[in-house]
Amino acid sequence: MLNIVLFGPPGAGKGTQAEKLIAKYNLVHLSTGDIFRANIKGETELGVLAKSYIDKGNLVPDEVTIKMLEAEVEKSTNAVGFIFDGFPRTTPQAEALSTFLESKGTSISVMLALDVEEQELVKRLLLRGKDSGRADDQDESIISNRIKVYNEQTAVVADFYDAQNKFQKIDGVGSIDEIFNRLCAVIDKHKVSL
Ligand code: ADP
Repeated sequence: MLNIVLFGPPGAGKGTQAEKLIAKYNLVHLSTGDIFRANIKGETELGVLAKSYIDKGNLVPDEVTIKMLEAEVEKSTNAVGFIFDGFPRTTPQAEALSTFLESKGTSISVMLALDVEEQELVKRLLLRGKDSGRADDQDESIISNRIKVYNEQTAVVADFYDAQNKFQKIDGVGSIDEIFNRLCAVIDKHKVSL
């Protein structure tokens, strides 16, 4: 299997690149943000809970997020691989994912980390907020809290994969196609050695 963790701060372009990658490599895209938003829209119990965190720019608790993610993986029995987008966002999530994949006889192949500087992130998120309707993209104080949470709780997840020699940093500034080509070059190199 080809299992990719697509990593990076809010606004780094994970969702955009994930869409292109799944088409090229036939992978299943699991975006925890998208799954939470679908639950919020459907007014499920999970959605109501998630909304109370998301609206403040905080992380949804690990226990809830991990359970949800594992249930989504279980749904895709015939997948040739997954792109995890927005997950793991904490070290406990990374550990749980590792144990879970191991129980399925597989593992993460590579973490692709999109690198974008903070000023550019805020600019992109505010622009996205104008037409996405996402409340968490429209308020500068929520955006800055999300970036703070990323720096304090999520950035360390890169060390978890770096320790396993699976961390690959990719320049996340440029055109969508330029960045996509950078990602594909790393994946293709990696696939050869799989
Ligand atoms: P972005 O990366 O642009 O901030 P996402 O769509 O990935 O947006 O996530 C939106 C929000 O959903 C996050 O700010 C957070 O509150 C919640 N969320 C998404 N993924 C996770 C996760 N793995 N753990 C905890 N909370 C999460």
